[in-house]
Amino acid sequence: MGRELTALDTYNKLVYKIVMLIVPAVCLLASFTITILNFTGFFPGVDKTYLLLFNVMDLSFLGLGIYFILTGFDKDGMLKENKLFFGKYTIALIAVLQWNGISYIWPFRELWVFILLFLLGEAFFFDLRLVQVTSAGLLISLTISWIINPEVLLPIRDDYFVANMAFRILCLLFTTIGVNLLSLFGGRFLMNELEKYVSKDPLTELFTRRKMNLYLQNAYNQSKSGKKSFCLLMLDIDDFKKVNDTYGHDCGDAVLKLVAGIVLGTLKPDDKAFRWGGEEILILMEGDKEEGIYVAEIIRDRIEQQFIFYKGQEPVRVTVTIGMSELDSGLSMSRLMEIVDKNLYKGKGNGKNQVVFH
Ligand code: GH3
Ligand code: MG
Ligand code: MG
Repeated sequence: MGRELTALDTYNKLVYKIVMLIVPAVCLLASFTITILNFTGFFPGVDKTYLLLFNVMDLSFLGLGIYFILTGFDKDGMLKENKLFFGKYTIALIAVLQWNGISYIWPFRELWVFILLFLLGEAFFFDLRLVQVTSAGLLISLTISWIINPEVLLPIRDDYFVANMAFRILCLLFTTIGVNLLSLFGGRFLMNELEKYVSKDPLTELFTRRKMNLYLQNAYNQSKSGKKSFCLLMLDIDDFKKVNDTYGHDCGDAVLKLVAGIVLGTLKPDDKAFRWGGEEILILMEGDKEEGIYVAEIIRDRIEQQFIFYKGQEPVRVTVTIGMSELDSGLSMSRLMEIVDKNLYKGKGNGKNQVVFH
């Protein structure tokens, strides 16, 4: 079974495709522009051999980008982890090589302004390390080029030289810090939030169904190796429609939240609870049959004892029915879910507010 596709995976997939193509294409555009300007006499004094080599280098960048796009995905369309890693750093290398190529073959006094453009491609990945490496590579290259080629790359030595240099350095400093901060915040906070958003249900804070396959598969593997045993519990609130109909949907939401809170508060930290359907909660917990029944009974009892006071209405009380089964590696996942479901409906047909295990 493949890994679940998260929003982050989808984002990286798209960015990878675009950046691996756009960055080499922009490099190639630059070398074509240089070549055309040179051939039309607007930028004289460029060594033709170097110019040719520069064009060949940029063409090979494009080839490399296309190679990474063509080989980057597995048969399920998932972006390969190692291709993403090498692809990103190849783009960083391309940026630094291109920078050095232009600095020496096509020296231009205001070239330093383009540092931002050279950094931009990497910023889309929200990978701080990548941006750190690229900005260090570019700034070091720039400094070296200023030392090697000061007559062309440094400001003209007039009264404004010092002011010019101060502006350059401040601009480069703030630009680089800005792009690095963007990657830091984007990577650490935005992506974490995005990940949380796709894996946690906002109302109940339970895991969403899309996270479940991964954890179930893990539990399956562990129980197969005989190291641990697990129980699967399916909880459904009894007569929940009546709660909605009598007290309103908002009150229903509050009940659902409270039930989820009791479930989470009863489980051990490593156990997992998922919002399976509307008011159905699937629980994956470590432990054998006896422990499973014990925990299920505690959950059932705590929910039954709990009153919910919603916006001054009369207190609401709900009960739950729980169907369960032990995770048996001899059974397929779908068969297991069938058993759990069957037990749940046995309980529903048998008076509700109970735990069923057969
Ligand atoms: P039973 O005891 O047989 O489970 O009866 P029930 O009324 O709970 O029946 P069922 O499980 O089929 O109904 C689920 C109801 O849960 C239907 C739907 O209106 C309600 N529901 C599902 N999701 C939400 C939600 O997010 N918020 C609220 N307030 N209600 C929800
Ligand atoms: Mg129900
Ligand atoms: Mg239901």
